[in-house]
Amino acid sequence: DRVPRRLLVTGGAGFIGSNFVHYWCENYPDDRVVVLDALTYAGNRRTLAALEERPNFRFVEGNICDRALADRLLQAEKIDTVAHFAAESHVDRSILGPGAFVQTNVVGTFTLLEAFRQHWNITANSAVNEGEQQYRFLHVSTDEVYGSLGPNDPAFTETTPYAPNSPYSASKAGSDHLVRAYHHTYGLPTIITNCSNNYGPYQFPEKLIPLMCINALIGKNLPVYGDGQNVRDWLFVIDHCRALDVVIHRGKPGETYNVGGNNEVKNIDLVKTLCQLMDELSPDLPVRPCSNLITFVKDRPGHDRRYAINSTKLKTQLGWTPSVTVEEGLRKTVAWYLTHRDWWEPLLSEEYQAYYRQVYVS
Ligand code: NAD
Repeated sequence: DRVPRRLLVTGGAGFIGSNFVHYWCENYPDDRVVVLDALTYAGNRRTLAALEERPNFRFVEGNICDRALADRLLQAEKIDTVAHFAAESHVDRSILGPGAFVQTNVVGTFTLLEAFRQHWNITANSAVNEGEQQYRFLHVSTDEVYGSLGPNDPAFTETTPYAPNSPYSASKAGSDHLVRAYHHTYGLPTIITNCSNNYGPYQFPEKLIPLMCINALIGKNLPVYGDGQNVRDWLFVIDHCRALDVVIHRGKPGETYNVGGNNEVKNIDLVKTLCQLMDELSPDLPVRPCSNLITFVKDRPGHDRRYAINSTKLKTQLGWTPSVTVEEGLRKTVAWYLTHRDWWEPLLSEEYQAYYRQVYVS
C-alpha cells in the first residue's frame, strides 16, 4: 500500500544520478521519474537510453538555474520528491575554474529550493494533511564539506563542523547551508546526505577509478598525486542509491545523514589493486604488468589528506548497511569498464584531452 511517488531527479544523466534513476525505475516501476539535466560535459543521455521508452520516465534537458523551468516541471509533473544530484562535481576542475561551481552548486540549489518552496506552499500542505503524498527535498552532498582529517582523527559525524578546503567543497557546503536554512526557516521537508567517494559504472573518465582503468586499457601513464598516501573512504554507487532510498522513505525532514562504506584506502594502494585486477581481467593490455604505468605527479593544490565517514546514524536509525565489499565492487567496476568501451571511448574528446593536459602534464 505504498503511494507511488513522483520524482524530479536533477543531474540524472551524471554518474550517481543515472545509477539512482536505473535503481529507482527497477525497484519502483509505478513511480514517475522526471530527469532534469543540463548535459554538461559530465552528463550523458546515452546512459539512460534503456529507460527512454518507459511511460513513467521523462528526460528534460535544462539547467537547474532556470527558475521558470523548475516551476513548470514541479507543477506540471505534480512532483512530490526532488532528488537533487546536479552539480559541478570534480575538485580538479573547481581549481581551474571555480565560477561554474558557485553558479550550479550554490545558485542552482537556491533556485530549486525557491521553486520547491513555492510549489510546496501551493500544493503540498493540503496533500500532507490528507496523508497522501509525502513531500521531500533530498539534497545529495559530500563528505568533503567537513575538510581533511589527520591520520588518527575520528571519522566525520553529522555534527563535525564544516571546514571545506576546495572551491568544489566550499560550493557544496554553501548549498548544504541553504538547504538546512530552508527547513529551519520555512519548514521545507528537506534532508541532506553527505557521502564518501563513490565508484561504479557510468563514472566520467576524469575521476580516479575510471581514469586508472581507462588509461591502463589505452596504455597511458597512471598519474598518482603527490606521495599517493591520501586516504579516501570508498562506497559502491549502488549502496549509495540504497541509502538514498531509505532516506527518502524513512528519513526525518531537517536531518542530515552521513553515508560511507567504512573502506579507507590509500590512493596508491587503490591504484595497485586496480592494476592487479586489470592484469587479471584484461587479456589485451598494451603494458603488462599494469603497475609499470604508475607515475607520481605534482600534488593537487590544497589536496585533503584523509576523509573518513561515520555512518552510525544511518545504520542505527534507518537500518542501512552497505551490501558490496570493496573487493567485489572494484572487481565489478573494472569488469564494467573492460566491457563498456563503447560508453567511455567517445568521452575522451578534445575538450577532455585539453583538461587532462592542464591537470597532469603542465
Ligand atoms: P557528475 O559530475 O557525474 O554528474 C553531474 C550531473 O549534473 C551531470 O549529468 C551534469 O550534466 C549535471 N549538471 C551539472 N550542472 C548542471 C546544471 N546547472 N543544471 C542541470 N544539470 C547540471 O556528478 P556525480 O559524481 O554523479 O555527483 C552527483 C552528486 O553527488 C553531486 O551533487 C556531488 O556533489 C555528490 N557526491 C558525489 C560523490 C562522488 O564520489 N562522485 C560523493 C558524494 C557526493
